This record gives sequence, structure tokens and C-alpha cells, in this order.
Amino acid sequence: MTKEKDKNIDRKSSFPAMEEEILNFWEKNKIFEKSVNNPPSPLYQGGKNPPYPPFRKEKSPLPPFFKGGIKDYVFYDGPPFATGTPHYGHIVASLMKDIVPRYWTMKGYRVERRWGWDCHGLPIENIVEKEAKTKSKKDIEKIGVEKFNEQCRSKVLVYAKEWEKTVRRMGRWVDMENSYKTMDLDYMESVWWVFKELWDKGLIYKDYRSMHICPRCETTLSQSEVAEGYKMVKDLSVMVKFEIMDKTPLTPLLKGGEDKANVYLLAWTTTPWTLIGNVALAVGEKIDYSLFKVDAGEYYIIASEQARKLANRFPQILKSFKGKNLVGLKYKPLFDYYAKDEKLENRENGWKVYSAPFVTTEEGTGVVHIAPAFGEDDMNLGKKEKLPFVQHVGMDGVIKEEAKDFAGLHVKPTDDVMKTDVEIMKYLAGKGLLFSKEKYEHSYPHCWRCETPLLNYATSSWFVNITKIKPKMLKLAKKINWVPAHIKEGRFGNWLEGARDWSISRQRFWASVIPIWECSCGERKVIGSVEELEKLSGEKITDLHKHIVDRITFKCEKCGGVMKRIPDVIDCWFESGSMPYAQRHYPFENKKKFEANFPAEFIAEGVDQTRAWFYYLHAIATGIKGSHAFKNVVVNGIVLAEDGKKMSKRLNNYPDPIKVMDKYGADPLRYYLCASPVMKADNINFSEKDMAEQTRFFNILLNVLSFYKMFAGDLKVENLEKKDLVNVLDKWITARLEQTKQIITEKMDNYDLQSIREIPIFINDLSTWYVRRSRDRFKGEDEVDKMRALKTLRRTLYHLARVMAPFMPFTAEHIYQELGADVESVHLKEWAPAKKEWIDKKVLEKMERVRKIVELGLAERDKAGIKVRQPIASLKIKNQKSKIKISEDYVQLIRDEMNVKDVIFAEGGELAVELDTRMTPELVAEGVKRELVRAINNLRKETGMTIQDRAVIYYQTENKEIKEVFEKFSEEIKKDTLADEVRLGGEGKAVKINGEEISLKVESL
Ligand SMILES: [Zn+2]
Ligand SMILES: [Zn+2]
Repeated sequence: MTKEKDKNIDRKSSFPAMEEEILNFWEKNKIFEKSVNNPPSPLYQGGKNPPYPPFRKEKSPLPPFFKGGIKDYVFYDGPPFATGTPHYGHIVASLMKDIVPRYWTMKGYRVERRWGWDCHGLPIENIVEKEAKTKSKKDIEKIGVEKFNEQCRSKVLVYAKEWEKTVRRMGRWVDMENSYKTMDLDYMESVWWVFKELWDKGLIYKDYRSMHICPRCETTLSQSEVAEGYKMVKDLSVMVKFEIMDKTPLTPLLKGGEDKANVYLLAWTTTPWTLIGNVALAVGEKIDYSLFKVDAGEYYIIASEQARKLANRFPQILKSFKGKNLVGLKYKPLFDYYAKDEKLENRENGWKVYSAPFVTTEEGTGVVHIAPAFGEDDMNLGKKEKLPFVQHVGMDGVIKEEAKDFAGLHVKPTDDVMKTDVEIMKYLAGKGLLFSKEKYEHSYPHCWRCETPLLNYATSSWFVNITKIKPKMLKLAKKINWVPAHIKEGRFGNWLEGARDWSISRQRFWASVIPIWECSCGERKVIGSVEELEKLSGEKITDLHKHIVDRITFKCEKCGGVMKRIPDVIDCWFESGSMPYAQRHYPFENKKKFEANFPAEFIAEGVDQTRAWFYYLHAIATGIKGSHAFKNVVVNGIVLAEDGKKMSKRLNNYPDPIKVMDKYGADPLRYYLCASPVMKADNINFSEKDMAEQTRFFNILLNVLSFYKMFAGDLKVENLEKKDLVNVLDKWITARLEQTKQIITEKMDNYDLQSIREIPIFINDLSTWYVRRSRDRFKGEDEVDKMRALKTLRRTLYHLARVMAPFMPFTAEHIYQELGADVESVHLKEWAPAKKEWIDKKVLEKMERVRKIVELGLAERDKAGIKVRQPIASLKIKNQKSKIKISEDYVQLIRDEMNVKDVIFAEGGELAVELDTRMTPELVAEGVKRELVRAINNLRKETGMTIQDRAVIYYQTENKEIKEVFEKFSEEIKKDTLADEVRLGGEGKAVKINGEEISLKVESL
């Protein structure tokens, strides 16, 4: 048996093995390196004096890159963390980052692909913290920042080997050996440069404001980090009674005998722990409020609209009035820890009612509890009205000593997040200050890394002034091409519109640091390079991490004092957003190269990056370069488990990617993902079954390849030329091929990776129509026609391999090598532009009609219950005014495929077919002959004969008709079964022919 046959029989196990062989071939011959250093351009083949390629006429204009050498095609690789093994999400991203560069390489560009590792930040810190069993930031400080940071450094690349394995296996070409790391000195120095550029442009400032912090990580977070972690949670909501102290204008309303009655403002909150920090209440001036009597001697004020909603609890309205009547009223503080502190700044303004524009009646009571240390609106009102500032909670989420009854409690304990709120509630209830309580479900932000509920907390932070550059960012964003397009104005556009100043300081350890040195006199210095710091400090600097640079001090130019670095480190997204510059150590190195290639042509990542990496790249590029950072971006969705849930190691609800590739091959996985909606930012449920189903065409394609090889044998099959295109089938498949090339080229130029779907459609046409209908031509005696068919099929496979190369690099290489490669690898071959003059539209149209007629005809045969092997007398094609005018070659295709003797055209109505199913003895005999041929060829296969083997056929039968068929059609049977003789006799196998059992035997000569 031939080698090809082996492959067909057992593709499932041999296909992955073929891929492994190809991986070794690429590595051994350095094909990737060659494709980068010497891209296979149709225009430029490398070398100092590039020759004109033979097919390029001198008149046609030279492309710009031909003049100055090879042009770079730049894409940015968003560096992943190596803190876990790669999953399908990474495979999808890697796939996009492989297909696009391979495509542009084939188009003649140099596409350097350098891998990067994200090294800094909480993901790594958390791993080290877990191992060191630290519970808080203080524990880390006890260990020492130096020791902690060095621990982090040692953990950064723990899973790098797993990544290398997966990336290699899936066939992604990227240079992992010379990867850059965000913790490298060069990288970190460029980050400092970026920071200083922003500083010099006045885009960095420090402010004290209300931010979201993670009390466990004890650090501030940025807007996008906060947006990442919203989850529905159950909290307690309470209505609290604030007793009005003044003899107010309302007092006369309280009828005689009750002028000692208590009047309360009711405020509503879902964070009872913030009540200790309450210093004011806010109402809306124009909002209607009402006074109610609920219990004897107790009166309440809430917004009238809310009272209507809670009618059962507030039945008795005594009086209504506008909110402005409440402004200025004093109330009794719920707690006296701070209210009695005479040293408290602005104490005189505290515990009064203020008017505020943000008060609404949508939720709550229309009376808002104000704690400036724990909310943005609160903070702003506090600044405006000079309210006292009470921050009774530390950055670690623990209540401070001053709040005596609650000192030491965590405001959101991890074991029971409502515990402290319940304590506060009980305390208030004990004092008669709790009006009501209930469970409340709402969406609340959590730390994206450690899942701790975040706190709204006033603290100081450094910011990038996004507000200032936002108009420019919006303008530049219009230049970016998004796939899918809706993200441009949708997700990304909306995020940009709502973007706020970017908090970049983090109070952590393992990161790039904020390069600001300060003196106690107020002098500040921002350092933008290693050299600058060395000059100022007189020390040799080889590392820019916190534990190193915190020790570096220098003299203050102003007062002679000591300049010390501010303790904050920098948001890791600042580093990721700086990667275009930092990966090349710009501007310290590669200045020219960078500037010639900015912005990048292409980036790709998941949809979650619209608020993160894509956004930060854009913000920094706008800030320092006044430019967008990338021209084209492809956004992928999420690969979910088959059950629609998130893929989870714990649930074990998805197959290991390496195992999937070892079972089916990497190309089928690549096809399945690339053809799926995940390429257009939609989610998919990963299904092994679907993948197997959708990738059957690999098998069909390999069968076509062996078919070609079987009939080409040792023949020298030369290149197809125009004069060879005589047969309609050759014309048609060539037109289809060029059409497919054209569609894919157009789509790929627009970054539509789903263009991969054209490939199985074409393979189906090739196999089920071209090869099927050409079978007799390959076997036939017309040597000229046979050679034309071989030339056509060879060219088709050869070009198909090139079109498949960026998408399914293994199969493409396999086919290319099997056909006899003309250069070392298909990936060193140029992308073949479509030969438009060979796309014969008329041929395509006519063939489509022929196939439609056949489809209708086969359906009729099916209805009549007549097998295709049984010839029938005629097929009548009815259609309007003989619309279908097709020549004899096409009619012959219908006759052959339909197995009819005659095709008749008739006028009238929509396109329809009619069969003449009347049988004659001749037709029946011919049907029997076909049955015999099929049975004999099956026996040939069973005995392992190939087309080189000639056979002798033995038969025995009592049936008169079958005997007659053997005698009458002996020559035809011999021809169709590659036999030299047909003999009566011999002990054979029992075979059923049209319901009759006969004995058949095939012997090799
Ligand atoms: Zn956290
Ligand atoms: Zn100073």
C-alpha cells in the first residue's frame, strides 16, 4: 500500500503526527527566521540589488518599500502574565496574532514578532503573598520590600515553559527566546521616560479625592480596574433617624401639647459602616418633602414622592414644603466620637442640613447622609461647604481607635461582609435611632484581583489628566479601524466619552515606580532616565525597582535638604500602555526605527481590553505623541465551556487545549476558532463535537491530494496555461479558485479573519464536483485531456496551499511539500494575487445552474426510489422561455451526474425537472452492469489492489440476466475495473446484485 493510503485510512492519529513533523521541519530549517529576515515578496526577493521578478513588468510602479528595502509591518503583542497556564482565550489571541503577521509576511513585509512578558503587579504579588501566607500589607512590610520583591522576580516566569509548549504546538510563529520583560531595566527606563513626557506636558497632577480602594491590597484602583469587578451582592439597607435639634420653623406645626415631640429626618444608606463618618445631611432645594406623624410623639420628614411609595408606613401627612425650608437645620450626631472633638477642623459647620444638586428621589428618602471621607459627592460637598472631615477607617478597612465602641472592626470582614454593619445597626436600634432595615441586593465593585469588596475612600493619588486630552483622544479614535466595526462607536467610543482622569499611583511593591523625588521644602524633581538619576545621586543604577530606588537620595537644589522618592509605584496599565516605546527601549535606542513605524498597523486582544490595554495605549500615545497608537484592531470574544459556563479548572468543564491538538491537530482547532463568532467579539461555547464536525474538510482535502498523486504518478505535470483551459470543469474550478483568492485577499486586507470560511466551501466544490465529475478524465485514455485535468488539479492544490498558509499553516505546508515545493516552504512563498482574467463569470453562472438542476433531479430520483446507478431514459428541464441555454459540455455533465440517457429542454414556469422513469430491458441491464462494476471495485479495494494492479475476474451465477450482462458488457466491465479477463467459475464471495446472490472473485495478475 502506498504511504498516502495509510494517511487516509487513519487520519485521526496521523494528522497530528504530520504536524509534529512539520514543526520539526520549520525549526530545523529556521523557516520562521527566514520569513522575517527575507520576506517572500513577489516584489523583492532580498539581497542588495533586488532583481525584478520575472512576472512583474517594468512599467508597473514600484511600491514604496521596494525603493528603500523591505518595509516593516508593525504589530504590538499585548504581553501576557505567566502566572497561569495558557487557556483558550490566549489561544484565540495568539491565533489572530499569528494569522495576520503570516499574511502580511507573504505580502512582502518584514513582520518582526517579539514575545513579551507582563511581569509586574498584583497577580505576581498575590502568588507570593499566598506562599508567604501574609494577611495584610503590614505583613509584607515585616518581611521587607526587598525580600518580597525578589520573591516576586523569581516567580514571574514560572509557567513560561507551559506557554512555550502551547504556542509552539499551535503553530504560532513568535520569537520567545528574545522576549522582553516589563521588569527589564531597559523597559522600566522607557516607562520613566513616558512618565516624564507626560509630566513635561502638564498632564500629571496630584490630588486628594474620593477613590475606590481595595482594603486588602491597601491600594487605590483606576476607573477601569473598578469597572472590571462589579458583582451583585446582598447588603443591608437601613433608614436612620436624625433628630432635629432646633426649635424649627416647623415647630408651630406640631399641635399643642406635643411641642416637646421629636422630629426626625430619615436618611437611607446601604453602607451603615460609613454612618460614624457622617457630618451632614443633604436635601434637594426644590424637592417636595412632607412631615408625617407615625408614632405618638414622633414625627418624620422624608421626600413626598418616597412617602407615596411607602404609603402604608406614612399614612398621615401633616404638612408639605420645599427642601429649602430644611436647609440650615441642625441635627443631633448619631455618634459623639468626633462631634465632641474641639480640635476637629470646621466643626462648627458639621451636623447640619445642606442643599445639594445630586439629591434625587429615585431611591432612598430624599435625605442623603454625607460622609466626605467615603464618597465622591460627599467629598465634593465637603469641600464646597467646608465640612469637617471624619475618616474613622484606615486604608486597611479597619475602624480606628477613636470610634471606641467599634475600634478594630473591619468594615467588610471577609467571613461575613455584613457583620460590622449589623453591629452598627444594633447600636443605633439600642438608642432608638433605627427606623427600619432590610436586605438589599445591588451591584457593588470588587477588587479584580483578590475579590475583596472595594471601599469608596478619600485619599491622595497621582493622576493623568485625561480630561485635558479627551477631545484629542476622541478625534484620533476616529482613525482606528475596528473589527467588528460596532466597537468603535460602541464599547470603545462610550468608554472614551465617559473617561475620567486616570489614577496611576498604587501603594504596592512589585511594579515600576513613580519617578518623582520630593524635598520637605516642597521641591519636586521628575526623573526620566537612568543617566539623570546617576548624575544627581552619584550612584550606579542597575535596577529601577522600589527597594533599590527608594534608597537613592540627592540634594535639594532649592534648600539643600534631602530629596527622597515618593513611596508610590505605578499602575501596571501604565506599563502596558507604554509598551510600543518600552519594548524597543525608545528613545534611548531604536529611535529611527520606532519613529518610522509608529503607529502600529495591527493589534488584537479580547473585548475586555477595550477599557484597558486598547484604551491605555491610546491615552498615552495621544498624551506624548499626539497620535493614535494602532491603526487596526481585531477584538475577540470569550471562549466558554460547552455548557455555556465560564471555563473552569475546578468544574473541569473543558478539554485541555494541548490534548485537543494532540488528538485532532492544531489546524482543525485553528480553523474552528477562526471561523467562529469569537473572531468578531462574540462568545462561543467550545464543543469538541462541533469542531470535529466542522473540520471534516481536512480529510476531504487530503483525499483529493492522494487522488491527484495517484493519477499523476511519475508524470511530469507542467504549469497550467490559458491554452490548457478547454474543458468546462477546468475553466470552472480555476475560476472558483481565483474567485476564492480574491474574496480572501479583500477580506484579509480589511482584517476579516472569518474569511477562512471560504476555504471549506471551495474544498467542497473541488471534491464533490470538480474531482467527482472529472474522475473519468483522470482514468481515461485521452492523454491530452488527462494532462489538462492534472495540470488544473495541481495548480488548484498548489494555490489552495498558499491561500491556506496563514490560517492552517501545517496542512498548507504538507500539501505544498507533497506537490513538490518550488521554494523551501510554502511560508516563504509570496501571497498569490487573484488572476482576475481567469474568473470567468459566465462559466461560474452556468455551472451554478447545472448544479441546481442536478440537485432538483437527484431529489426527484430520491422521490421515485431509483438509485443513481440505475440509468433512466430522460430528464426534462422546464423553465421560463428557455432561459437556460447551455452548451453540450454542460448537458453532458448533467447526463453523467444524473445517469440519464437524454436531457430535454421545455418551456414553461419556474425551473423544474421531470424524470422519465419507465424502464426498458436495456436500461435494467445497464443498471446491473453498474452494480457489478461497483461490487468488483469494492473487492479490489478489499484485497488491497491499487490502480497499478491488473485483475482477473471470476463469477458464478444462475441468473440469466446477470449472465447476459457479463457477456454483453464484458469489455466495459474490464475497462471500468482495470481487469484483463472476465471468467466464469472460481470459488468467490457471495455478493448481492439487484437482490440476486452471485459469487465474485478478483485476482491480481
Ligand atoms: Zn485586592
Ligand atoms: Zn528642599
